Amino acid sequence: MTDGRETVLQKAADLGVKFVRLQFTDIFGVLKNVAITIDQLPKALNNELMFDGSSIEGFVRIEESDMYLRPDPSTFTIFPWRPNGDAVARLICDVYNADGTPFIGCPRGTLRRVIAEAEAMGFTMNVGPEAEFFLFHTDASGRPTLETHDRAGYFDMTPVDLGEDARRDMVLTLQQMGFEIEASHHEVAPGQHEIDFKYAEALRTADNIATFKFVVRTIAQRHGLHATFMPKPIYGIAGSGMHCNISLFRDGKNAFYDPQDKLQLSEIAYYFIGGLIAHARGMTAITNPTVNSYKRLVSGYEAPVYIAWSPQNRSPLIRIPAKRGLSTRLEVRHPDPSANPYLAIAVMLKAGLDGIKNRIQPPPPVNGNIYHMDKATLKAQGIELLPATLDEALDELERDPVIQEALGPHIYQRFLEAKRIECEEYRTRVHQWEIDQYLTKF
Ligand code: ADP
Ligand code: MG
Ligand code: MG
Ligand code: MG
Ligand code: MG
Repeated sequence: MTDGRETVLQKAADLGVKFVRLQFTDIFGVLKNVAITIDQLPKALNNELMFDGSSIEGFVRIEESDMYLRPDPSTFTIFPWRPNGDAVARLICDVYNADGTPFIGCPRGTLRRVIAEAEAMGFTMNVGPEAEFFLFHTDASGRPTLETHDRAGYFDMTPVDLGEDARRDMVLTLQQMGFEIEASHHEVAPGQHEIDFKYAEALRTADNIATFKFVVRTIAQRHGLHATFMPKPIYGIAGSGMHCNISLFRDGKNAFYDPQDKLQLSEIAYYFIGGLIAHARGMTAITNPTVNSYKRLVSGYEAPVYIAWSPQNRSPLIRIPAKRGLSTRLEVRHPDPSANPYLAIAVMLKAGLDGIKNRIQPPPPVNGNIYHMDKATLKAQGIELLPATLDEALDELERDPVIQEALGPHIYQRFLEAKRIECEEYRTRVHQWEIDQYLTKF
């Protein structure tokens, strides 16, 4: 898009931009930056900017390291916390090979491939995420602690809640960057927050999640706090999830809505649910990719444990919020914010499309509180459990060719390798719990 390019150059000039950060994520969802000066921007927009891909974890080997960043002009935005006059802008990029073909290890490209599959079937996917996070104090040397501002506020009896202040600043900053904030509130646990922004088309939402996490961390830091998207920082209180609200549109209409149906859901919606349930175990390593993710997926904190769906309550994997018409959507509740947003959305979409293609009927909805059902009832209803550990989730990923196809061979293999190492490191370390249990007992 040449005019997108012209617009970016014009905006950069008008805003006095001095530096541009070219952003992309590695396969683990870690945001990477290459900073360039404004004089290099035309070159970057001509897709002539090379970087060394071997320095990025999970990308390529040294001998094949030349890669190109292709900035997406529609992602141009400035960082509002930087001083005027020395403005810093960013562009989100797709990663390309030296020969001009899309790099198969680029998570954004991976999501683009699955989106193209949906488009070929006539569907556009919308996603609205609810990313939760904790705000913790930092100590005298600036290192994060596990102490929340709530507790400090309570003991200190300070009139100002540092956390609420920081969150307000986050909301304002995100709005300046073009986010439409729908809600922001304190969550269940002390120090836990949620900021909801408006749903958008899948690729835009994945970009938004990456930006959101970066902005929340940056603003927290400017308030002397540490923001973490770690799924379960503290045992015994709620963890942080990233529920994903999903809908498909076709010909400008919500393809999940059918006023004739008992639940006012379309056949497409049922098949999509069927696909999500069929591939739930296979996709969990991607939506919940850390050892710590599985400490959140336990009973009792509104996090899902059972693979079921319900139009009524908040305990199962998939909930159907009450809204119908254009707002008809599914809420997938197991993803957490440590997931790579591009890959997490790619596997959910792929699973749903597989359900549509193969007309996978979902099991009947579950209406009681699933946490209160006994094992026999669950078994009788054919309700399975999500993987209980990252290792188990990786075993399931190895058994699910559909999810593997969504990732592509490069990301699948690199991801599996790295995550098995992570599991093994965790397995062989001695944890505090063991010391507490065994040191004096034996
Ligand atoms: P909850 O009731 O689970 O707390 P929230 O109100 O926090 O839900 O978040 C709802 C999310 O769903 C928002 O991001 C919103 O933009 C999104 N959403 C609304 N309509 C749709 C839709 N048709 N498709 C996808 N997401 C949607
Ligand atoms: Mg919410
Ligand atoms: Mg809400
Ligand atoms: Mg919440
Ligand atoms: Mg929710």
